[in-house]
Amino acid sequence: MRHFAVVGSGPAGFYTAEALEKAYGANARIDILDRYPVPYGLIRFGVAPDHQSLKAVSKRYDKVAESAGVNFIGNVMVGRDVSIAELLDLYDAVILATGAPHDRKLGVPGEDLAGVIGSGEFVGWYNGHPEYADLDPFLLGSNAVIIGAGNVALDCARILAKTRHEFEGSDIVGHALDALDNSAIRTITILGRRGPHQVAMTPKELGELGHLEAAVPEIDLGDFPPLEADEPLEPGLRKSVTILRSFAQLPQNKPKRMVFDFFAKPVRVEGDGRVERVIVERTELDEKGGARGTGETYAVPASLVITAIGYSTSPIPDVPFAGGKFVNEQGRIADRLYAVGWARRGPTGTIGTNRPDGYEVADQVAVAMPAGSCGDRQGAEGLKRLLQSRGVMPTDYDDWRKIEQSETANARAGSPREKFVRHEHWLQTIGR
Ligand code: NAP
Repeated sequence: MRHFAVVGSGPAGFYTAEALEKAYGANARIDILDRYPVPYGLIRFGVAPDHQSLKAVSKRYDKVAESAGVNFIGNVMVGRDVSIAELLDLYDAVILATGAPHDRKLGVPGEDLAGVIGSGEFVGWYNGHPEYADLDPFLLGSNAVIIGAGNVALDCARILAKTRHEFEGSDIVGHALDALDNSAIRTITILGRRGPHQVAMTPKELGELGHLEAAVPEIDLGDFPPLEADEPLEPGLRKSVTILRSFAQLPQNKPKRMVFDFFAKPVRVEGDGRVERVIVERTELDEKGGARGTGETYAVPASLVITAIGYSTSPIPDVPFAGGKFVNEQGRIADRLYAVGWARRGPTGTIGTNRPDGYEVADQVAVAMPAGSCGDRQGAEGLKRLLQSRGVMPTDYDDWRKIEQSETANARAGSPREKFVRHEHWLQTIGR
């Protein structure tokens, strides 16, 4: 019997477990560890609550968790409750699928002022992440500025713009819904440090902005190159640029504006005790397509700033780490230690991009330890003994099911669930 530990129960972790299960069948036990008693990582805490069809992928993960050789072991934090060296002693291979939950820093003066938050914090707040339950983003001013021209910036802008009615059918948490309902924000400015041809925004997500109840997107056609320059763009990007251009035709007849400000690089955040404005430098493209400052600056009023400029992985003691992710070669970190997903390659790609990652690493494991070969490691039994000796109480998938049932039973009208946002609340629900 082989024993494998997958650390992290987001998409990358589940695809890896699925691949290992397929490769080894009854000859392996695969334990998916998570610091929380609730699984799915990015699906629960990252994907926007109004994108329920994307969240439905968790049904596939349920099937993996329910297969005979796979166990979910929640409420265990690797690096705190158990070390990597101990896991490697207990398991034939350890695969880190810990995602990239931390906001990258902007690196400009003033970014620590009150009212400046990272998208990871804001997204965590409206998605019921316990670390951000008390974030209380300042929504009582009229100007929000979002820095970054990717899909996370679009998620944040859309969530700030939507009405209570538009959240029907979503699983946005109650505290965020109420706060957003009382929001005074009227202008949401999205700052892209490069131009419309360099956006990382995808067509479906951009298209949604044209159909909002109370907000209308606004662009300046002067930021765009001549129309014929769109022709050679890769089809997805061309579509995004076409949608952006189409915003120029929309009547500006709704109470909230969503302003796209391109070639605008934040150089400073200013305010008396809290954020009041972002100082932006006008840019142009350099020879390599990067943003080169022109020296011209201007101020964008801001009562709230959200940076949406990418994420980094949490370091784990004794695991080599650089550039916001684990140092690895095609997923291999060291003997029997691997990384998958955003912890392996950084925060890029869709949920599905994690699947080939997981399968590739599972293949490497299967080459090193062919199915049918035997190991003498203790796996989950040894891990549970070790955790017990430290007073750590792991949870399992049945516990998660109880939490899920309770969240479903507590759902307000029109929502699939009311997520519990406190670790204690999860544990109380399962009688701990
Ligand atoms: P992203 O796609 O990498 O976009 C990051 C943006 O931040 C880029 O526009 C980048 O500009 C900008 N940026 C980086 N550093 C900056 C700085 N110092 N100052 C100003 N701007 C800066 O990252 P993301 O939006 O966090 O998304 C992460 C991944 O999740 C992406 O693959 C995304 O597609 C995916 N995602 C998908 C969905 C969906 O499908 N619905 C939703 C959310 C996220 P440059 O290009 O100039 O570097």
